[in-house]
Amino acid sequence: VPPAPALPIRAITFDLDETLWPVWPTIVRAEKALYEWISTHAPSTARRYTIEGLRQVRDEVARIRLDLAHDVAELRRVSTMAALERAGDDPELVHGAWEAFMRERQRVEPFPDALPALETLARRFPLATITNGNADVNLIGIGHLFRANFMAGVEGIAKPDPRIFHRAADALGVAPGAVLHVGDDTALDVIAGRAAGMHVAWINRGGHAWDHDVPAPELAFTDLAELVRWLDATQPGPRHD
Ligand SMILES: [Mg+2]
Repeated sequence: VPPAPALPIRAITFDLDETLWPVWPTIVRAEKALYEWISTHAPSTARRYTIEGLRQVRDEVARIRLDLAHDVAELRRVSTMAALERAGDDPELVHGAWEAFMRERQRVEPFPDALPALETLARRFPLATITNGNADVNLIGIGHLFRANFMAGVEGIAKPDPRIFHRAADALGVAPGAVLHVGDDTALDVIAGRAAGMHVAWINRGGHAWDHDVPAPELAFTDLAELVRWLDATQPGPRHD
């Protein structure tokens, strides 16, 4: 068991995709739902582009619209609209296509350890979420576990920008140094969370080696059950204000 950080942890922030659920099966299903919607309502676009073709349009738009780098949702919307327009369909159809995508995007399947851990931790700590993706915990049905949620597309800033971490700490009423940020991404969660002044726990489900020049995080767990056991052992007592 790693040693306890010097400061007691008074609040926890969580990344979403790949920390609480696998994201790629969900994205693949959502892209399929979007494509089926387009096949029905925008047949010229479906004739011109395959699913892979739509991905290429998105990559192309991403290279031009650098301002959308923080907002994968807007990037997908804008590129879908571009594909509709180029194929001669009504670009306004983007709204229906987008709804089809987002409906499926919120149908995530949490890792088996995720919900039991969150339910346990929500009784002891104020929790918040910080995501660069477009999963919405309220639509997913787990919003009651969190006091605040920070989505890059809504905030206009994304990880690794320290401001999104600081907004979350503010919302939880604690200094960044009293927050434990939990996430799977070595750059966007571990290194960025640490740079924002937080304690960080790397959720390393794949058993990957640490491959950055900067030191590995003091805390690394294979899943959230292990994180709960560590918190139980090192951070005793209720923490709710
Ligand atoms: Mg992630």
